[in-house]
Amino acid sequence: MTLRTDVLDLGSLHLSSGEGRRLELGVAIDPFEFGAERYAVEPATIPVQLDVSRTTGDGFALRLRFSANLSGPCMRCLEPAKPGFEVDAREVSQPGAGEELESPYVDGGVLELGAWARDALALALPAQMLCRADCRGLCPVCGVSLNEAGPEHHHDSPPDPRWAKLSELRFE
Ligand SMILES: [Zn+2]
Ligand SMILES: [Zn+2]
Repeated sequence: MTLRTDVLDLGSLHLSSGEGRRLELGVAIDPFEFGAERYAVEPATIPVQLDVSRTTGDGFALRLRFSANLSGPCMRCLEPAKPGFEVDAREVSQPGAGEELESPYVDGGVLELGAWARDALALALPAQMLCRADCRGLCPVCGVSLNEAGPEHHHDSPPDPRWAKLSELRFE
């Protein structure tokens, strides 16, 4: 069972300049919402690998790696989907060295690991959540899942003119 770490005090690692350590930690990430749909992030506690290197002064170079799944309906065929994503993110925090070397996730040597993990995963997500990259979606005419109906599924168009005539009849 991996313990959950939302916030990590980098100073407590007691690294000296040039020293590094790899930590195996766990984070929990709140569900994402797209439109009206909710996508849970699995597993509930995600094992993450965090590489911490002490640079000079109070600076740190950080690398965060983990994989996670999102669980929710496929945006094309509406079937349950559970696409997986790999995250590999880096941050540098070098206080006093200019804005571009400041990390929004590090303040006073304390790393907001949970917030960083969530943002890093959000950046890895595609615009559309799909059960698989080549999901064929639903038939626009009858609504059947084209993944199940297969490539031979089609509707004759234009419709048979005799049926069109029939549909004009009114039964009263
Ligand atoms: Zn699908
Ligand atoms: Zn159809």
